[in-house]
Amino acid sequence: MAIQFYNTLTKQKEEFTPQEKGVVRMYNCGPTVYSYPHIGNFRSFVFADVLRRYLEYRGMEVKQVMNITDVGHITADADEGEDKMEAQAKKEKKDPWQIAAHYGGIFLDLRKQLGFADALAHPKATEHIPEMIAIIEKLVAKGHAYVVGNNVYFSVATFPNYGKLSGNITEDLEAGARIEPHPDKKDPRDFALWKHDPKHIMQWDSPWGRGFPGWHIECSAMSMKYLGETLDIHTGGEDNIFPHHECEIAQSEAANGKPFCRMWMHARFLLVDGQKMSKSAGNFYTVEDVFRHGVTAPALRWGLATSHYRQQMNFTWESMQVAQGSVDKLIEFRKRLSDAHGKAPLEAVKPVVEKARKDFEKGMDDDLNVSEATAALFTMVREINRLDPDPAAAAFVRDAFDKLDTVFNTASAPPDVFTDEEQKLLAARAAARSSKNWPESDRLRKELEAKGVLVEDTARGQRPRRARK
Ligand code: AMP
Ligand code: ZN
Repeated sequence: MAIQFYNTLTKQKEEFTPQEKGVVRMYNCGPTVYSYPHIGNFRSFVFADVLRRYLEYRGMEVKQVMNITDVGHITADADEGEDKMEAQAKKEKKDPWQIAAHYGGIFLDLRKQLGFADALAHPKATEHIPEMIAIIEKLVAKGHAYVVGNNVYFSVATFPNYGKLSGNITEDLEAGARIEPHPDKKDPRDFALWKHDPKHIMQWDSPWGRGFPGWHIECSAMSMKYLGETLDIHTGGEDNIFPHHECEIAQSEAANGKPFCRMWMHARFLLVDGQKMSKSAGNFYTVEDVFRHGVTAPALRWGLATSHYRQQMNFTWESMQVAQGSVDKLIEFRKRLSDAHGKAPLEAVKPVVEKARKDFEKGMDDDLNVSEATAALFTMVREINRLDPDPAAAAFVRDAFDKLDTVFNTASAPPDVFTDEEQKLLAARAAARSSKNWPESDRLRKELEAKGVLVEDTARGQRPRRARK
């Protein structure tokens, strides 16, 4: 069966084939690096990673670019107001460049910790100002943008398809008061491409005077530079549909006269108590918060990836525990396969593996139906355990399992490594627990903690892991 994805643009599931055979050009809207990313942001990023990994599993090469927004993203995605970077810089008594370097670094480190496949590039907006200026100049020359003082606006009236992604047409926008009349704008829907603000710290020279870019033009410029004028896939969270992606389409297509992107995919929100997890609402957890609760990196990935991306997901600690249990089961399974001494021969396990592979692919091909795909994995685990394979059969199963696991990247994630001394302490603590010597076990827990080893007690014994910095 062919791969089908739901396209936000056409509002239906469509067969996915890249424009160049076997090569996918994919752009993911990345973080605005003004603070710690929360696990809501990571729901969108994990979705993009699983999507990329599945396309690779299916034999395609994926040219993946995820940008870093380090200027121009205004509070509430508006055209005017405070730049998120500069607002945070004020709070921390630093300059926005320091804020960008600090949180941008944290983001890249978290990607590593969470086992993301490396992207082709993580372009920073501040390093692509000339590319943005070039597109804006083209838009002005073609009459799709106009200059007022030192500002440049995109003229929405010149692009009749505006609204085709979000369904936001002028009447709705006005009725919902999502746009207001503006003294400089010819049409309240028009949006800024280049802005002048003497108070803004991050500024560049341009044909329109010193200023800084609008948030939307950044993603058009960076995607075009690394992936060309027509993308195969563009992703983001659902809040990116409007205005961000609607505006990206308008300015890119007006500039190039070509379709900007063939498949738009959006992850729905991660919620807390029914509300969007967000920095501004203050109802967020960082990745580190989750690690502190004893949830491992593969379990967090699994927890975020295994509820369908087109359904909002409510965050609960119970769901994280369930995810941890699932990942532990898979890790345990893989371990047992490496040490198998059962009787079932290769011929007995082959049909089970074949069925799991087929069901897994059938699920993922259907707009990433992760419930079906993960059910296929666990059916395989159950049946192989029941069969109890001999060493050769187990090796066969393990290879097949590892291939499937390249998609969610859980069980094969590298385990934490402990020093000899730490292992001795862990063994001593396990012994103290089995002889019910609780004070000693607590003392050893503290000693381990001081060395950066956190221990959680589970029904299957203690589980140590290294604290993440
Ligand atoms: P930002 O750092 O605000 O630019 O957001 C980075 C990415 O995270 C964007 O693609 C957002 O759409 C996405 N995002 C933000 N909050 C959530 C959430 N609660 N659930 C899922 N995705 C989110
Ligand atoms: Zn973007």
